[in-house]
Amino acid sequence: MRIIKNVLHMQKIALNHIKNGDEIGLIPTMGALHDGHVSLIAKSRRSDDITVVSIFVNPIQFGPNEDYLKYPRTVNKDLEVCKKNHVDYVFMPAVNDMFPSNHKTFIEVKILQDILCGKFRPNHFRGVVTVVVKLFNISCADRSYFGMKDFQQLKILEKVARDLNFKTKIIPCPIVREKSGLAISSRNSYLSVEEKKSSENIFKILKEASEDFKIRNLNFVKKNVLEKLKKIPDSKVDYAEIVDFNDLSLADKDTRKVVFVVALWLGRTRLIDNTVMIKQTK
Ligand code: AMP
Repeated sequence: MRIIKNVLHMQKIALNHIKNGDEIGLIPTMGALHDGHVSLIAKSRRSDDITVVSIFVNPIQFGPNEDYLKYPRTVNKDLEVCKKNHVDYVFMPAVNDMFPSNHKTFIEVKILQDILCGKFRPNHFRGVVTVVVKLFNISCADRSYFGMKDFQQLKILEKVARDLNFKTKIIPCPIVREKSGLAISSRNSYLSVEEKKSSENIFKILKEASEDFKIRNLNFVKKNVLEKLKKIPDSKVDYAEIVDFNDLSLADKDTRKVVFVVALWLGRTRLIDNTVMIKQTK
């Protein structure tokens, strides 16, 4: 495994692999690697000749009052995880190499970037898309792996790849959960013991919603989830919405494949989760 810290060096190595006919898989991460990230790495190892993991806490996707400075940074442990999982390259650029002071180009995705999390985190998706597109170009990836935990991010990147004709294929990967059902996230490390216990209710509530969805109407299911989420101690719900799986538009009674997406604060930690629900046709 090689650790590459320079943008042009990484791009040169990737271009050489492409010249040799290798297919490259990229897993963009912000580090603090966990089993969710490992599942993405494992998927790339099965499909690609070369697996590149990028570790970059991307400053331009954090708002001014968000957790950029305190975001968990566990580089040594991350490198061990990558090595153990047979990663070929770990790309760890410096901030001023990715975004020198004269960087002026940003990519926006109309509407999709402004709904759901975008409403509460202005400029977040603009920052995500811009960095991911740079990572596609630097790594020359044939495939790039993204978790369904960040469902809106996944849908936005699928749209970008289609709209801008990228050669990189976006590969969605299922949510990895703890035994309790809590979706694994680097930010879970912020939770106190009590908050961690409370957070386990989120998946339970979503699971109950999937059952209700089979027999009740959308408004009932949504209202029920909102009420239950609000009852979690110390919670503040940003949103709980049922959206179309394909384009994130609000679902109606005829939408067959929907996603229940939620975002809420537990104390000072913001968590997101979702579950896919499919209407049975009679
Ligand atoms: P992050 O380091 O949090 O930016 O995440 C990097 C990638 O890992 C993103 O594509 C996430 O969606 C994915 N990811 C994070 N947590 C999980 C999880 N619990 N299950 C599956 N994928 C995940």
